[in-house]
Amino acid sequence: MPSETIKLTAKFKLKETPKGLDDLFSVYREIVNYLITYAYEGNITSFKRLKKETYKELRKKYPQLPSHYLYTACQMATSIFKSYRKRKRKGKANGKPVFKKEAIMLDDHLFRLDLEKGVVKLSTPKGRLNLKFYLAKYHEKFKEWKVGQAWLVKTPKGVFINVVFSKEVEIREPKAFVGVDLNENNVTLALPNGEFVQIITHEREIRTGYFVKRRKIQKKIRAGKKREELLQKYGERERNRLNDLYHKIVNVIVEFAKRYGGIALEDLTEIRDSIRYSAEMNGRLHRWSFRKLQLIIEYKAKLKGIRVVFVNSAYTSSLCPVCGGKASPNGHRIVKCSNCGFEADRDVVGSWNIRLRALKMWGVSVPPESHPMKMGGGKPTRYEINTLHTING
Ligand SMILES: [Zn+2]
Repeated sequence: MPSETIKLTAKFKLKETPKGLDDLFSVYREIVNYLITYAYEGNITSFKRLKKETYKELRKKYPQLPSHYLYTACQMATSIFKSYRKRKRKGKANGKPVFKKEAIMLDDHLFRLDLEKGVVKLSTPKGRLNLKFYLAKYHEKFKEWKVGQAWLVKTPKGVFINVVFSKEVEIREPKAFVGVDLNENNVTLALPNGEFVQIITHEREIRTGYFVKRRKIQKKIRAGKKREELLQKYGERERNRLNDLYHKIVNVIVEFAKRYGGIALEDLTEIRDSIRYSAEMNGRLHRWSFRKLQLIIEYKAKLKGIRVVFVNSAYTSSLCPVCGGKASPNGHRIVKCSNCGFEADRDVVGSWNIRLRALKMWGVSVPPESHPMKMGGGKPTRYEINTLHTING
């Protein structure tokens, strides 16, 4: 069975911040900025070369600092300089690149995470520091995962340690694919048994609600710190709520897909043409939500051994899945084929085409009997996400 690696980042909030940590943040930023300037002046994009040319001097200047801080600082400096060069080529960067964030990159030599006790041991210039953090329920699942690199990040809400965990999973050979069409207010599934399921998500209502709230705040409260804080608070609430919603949606998708072992999604990475993009995205999720939801589907599916494939996204909702003719709008969210007269909900057509494309991609010829028989006039079975209980996973 082929195996794949899943990577997830978990956040841990520190219970308190010892004084030594503040010094470490400023020393680290100083070093990263020194390295960025060095890379900028010598036009160095290689991590190895940057490390080789600067290590001795930095070692002399910061003799107490554990040497792996210098390695990770070099890694950060190279990646910051590289992305600066990319932006510069597109005319999007001015002046010199500068690192302003309060963030420290850690490799496995610099910290030890103890998820049982809720403590991270950190190597510092003043020896080992024991940093206690708050344990959340969702952290428990990471106990069997492998710990990778991490970031210490200082925010107005305190200091966090963000840890990258990884896990090897076995992916089964799929028996069939569930086609998944992601939209602004629903997610439509084309099941291999010919049934369609539409999960009503109410995402648009949530977004509109928060949009109205933000407008009210901007009208009622004068510009300033208080307004900023309120806007930030509601922005965060909206993100949390959407995140929660996405996890619920994905749990339902995975529940439907696990008996078939395969999920098909649209590949949107190829769409670069902005005109085509906006036409394609009409009535769909924002790109950000779309990708976010796809990423959650990907890792949750993999955790259950389900294969996820990406298919060409062009015209998924405007081609007839029965005869391949052109399907045009014919009433609210209904499309009709000009060739054979087939008519259905456009999201049903979308998910159906996604499923068919996955079968083709997987080298399965599509027999006529694979056409959905239980359509009930193009009407999918509807589920309200809010009334569904959460399936753990
Ligand atoms: Zn047709």
